[in-house]
Amino acid sequence: MPEVYLLLGGNLGDRTLYLQQARESIVEQVGPINLASSLYETAAWGKTDQPSFLNQVLKIETDLSPEEVLQTINSIELELGRKRHEHWGARVIDIDILFYDELVQQTQRLTIPHPQLHLRRFTLMPLHEIAPVLVHPGLQQSITALLENCPDKLEVKRYKA
Ligand code: ADP
Ligand code: MG
Repeated sequence: MPEVYLLLGGNLGDRTLYLQQARESIVEQVGPINLASSLYETAAWGKTDQPSFLNQVLKIETDLSPEEVLQTINSIELELGRKRHEHWGARVIDIDILFYDELVQQTQRLTIPHPQLHLRRFTLMPLHEIAPVLVHPGLQQSITALLENCPDKLEVKRYKA
């Protein structure tokens, strides 16, 4: 079955509870979780006048196509109450597809690997915890190398609940 890496993030309300509910919905609607990173806390990216984010990366198995994964995670975001009007704004949950096996694709709706993953320390830190030697199929570099070369210097801390 295809292996998919997902990034979960949220900065509103009971952040750990929303992440837990997102994991439960993912298991029910997308597929089983094989690996889960710790939670990491980061100051809000792009906009700084809002609460800090918690992020987590999951490795899952799924029999859904990439487009079906996107539809399903979008509907989980809506179920959990995300309001879609503010770009980079506060949200209870954001779910992004980082990798789908070795797939490299760019369509209007879906870019895989996620186009920003190598630019964001809050993505690379949890990803590195569970997949340090994974090679980015587009950039042909390991997650360890991408993290070493990451230009983003925002502090990302392991979160202790
Ligand atoms: P962001 O994740 O950048 O904060 P959104 O979650 O609102 O913003 O996503 C906007 C759109 O990005 C989604 O509707 C989706 O069609 C598109 N998208 C493109 N590539 C991906 C990907 N790899 N994972 C998730 N969404 C993606
Ligand atoms: Mg998103």
